[in-house]
This record gives sequence, C-alpha cells and structure tokens, in this order.
Amino acid sequence: MMLQNITNIWQRIHDAEQEFDRTSGSVDLLAVSKTRAVEEIKSALDAGVHRFGENYVQEALPKIQALADEDIEWHFIGNIQSNKTQQIAENFSWVHAVSNLNTVGRLSMQRPADLPPLNVCIQVNISEEASKSGTTVTALSELAGEVARLPNIKLRGLMVIPEICHTFSAQRAIFQKARQLYQKLVREGLQLDTLSMGMSGDFEAAIAEGATIVRLGTAIFGPRTK
Ligand SMILES: *Cc1c(COP(=O)(O)O)cnc(C)c1O
Repeated sequence: MMLQNITNIWQRIHDAEQEFDRTSGSVDLLAVSKTRAVEEIKSALDAGVHRFGENYVQEALPKIQALADEDIEWHFIGNIQSNKTQQIAENFSWVHAVSNLNTVGRLSMQRPADLPPLNVCIQVNISEEASKSGTTVTALSELAGEVARLPNIKLRGLMVIPEICHTFSAQRAIFQKARQLYQKLVREGLQLDTLSMGMSGDFEAAIAEGATIVRLGTAIFGPRTK
C-alpha cells in the first residue's frame, strides 16, 4: 500500500517534470510524517524515501531517536517557537519555515559546531493570509540578505504554503509568484537552489513553477486521523 502510493507519486512527479520542461530528477520528495508512527516511517524508508518532515519538536524527537540508525535526513517544517530553537538546531538538517531574523539567529548560535551548517528556507506568506506565518513579500529581500550572512546557516531558498485553490491555473498563479520572488533574490546575488512548495493537493502545479522539493503527507500515508 505504502510502496504503491510512493511508486505512484514518483510517477506523477516524473510526468510533471516532463510535461513542464523540468530537468529529469530535479524535484525531490519530502515525506511529511507528522502524526505518523515510527512503523509507518519505516515502511516509507523501505520504499526508498530518505527525507522526512516533522512539524512539532515534541512529537519528532522520539521518532528521530527511534530511527537514529537509519539513513534519514530530518526536515523541520513547522512554525518555530523560540524556546525550541536549540532542539531544532541539534536534531534537524533543514528548517523550512524561517520567517524572522531573531529565530534564525538563535538557530545559528545553537547549531552544534560538529554538524554541517543548518539548511534553511525562508517562508513567504505568499497569499498574504492573516492566519498564515511567513515573512511579507516586502520584507523578504532584506531578511534573505541577513540570513545569508549568518554563520552555521546555509540559506537554500524559499518555502510557501498557498491558500487552498481548487483549479490548477489558480494554484499555478500563486506558485508563479513564489518563483518570481526566488528569481529576484538570485538576481540580487544570493546563491539559492531550493523552492519548497507543493503538497498532496497541488504538487503538480508547484512543479510547473519550479518546485525542487514537494512536501507530501496524505498522498504517501493516507488521510491524517489526528
Ligand atoms: C502537513 C504539511 C504538509 C503535507 O500536507 P499534505 O496535504 O498531507 O500533503 C506539507 N507542508 C507542511 C508545512 C505541512 O504542515
């Protein structure tokens, strides 16, 4: 069942790469394992997935410990509470939802010296929803410049969670905005390689607009029951 889901997803990713003139293999899969048990993560590992995303530190740490012997790259994709930055800096390879300098400054200070720099994406509140986190479009350039200068941090790109749109073209229009912001930062001289965008309901539209990491939960593990 899990293997079947993951095989299907890779097929859809490859089909979208072809259809939208993306380089083959340029889109990677991040399995979002929030609410999922260690056994489910193991099944996804057996099906060849090695990057997993978690939203809550408290929930993630026991799983990270239980799976310490496995070849897994852990991504923190949730909102970052400032009292959790140390645990994030110590246990994850990537952080996707950086949205202010204060928090990412703490991550930089708390990143253990024996680990490689922490990979981060800046979350942009692309649909400008009051309920969503992320930096504003206006503040992005300055924040990105400052994050890029932090020690122990490697700024990789941008992450967005758009409002829910029900047509492909509406989904694509929002992801296009994200791509344009990304390209502007590259023109301003930042060395970026990551657009973290696309979830189970809209990942093909995200691939059409340049996603390099799609974050999928439901499509891999089935509906979340909690
Ligand atoms: C839960 C979550 C996902 C995955 O959502 P699905 O719709 O289940 O694929 C992706 N990104 C973030 C930030 C999430 O919180």
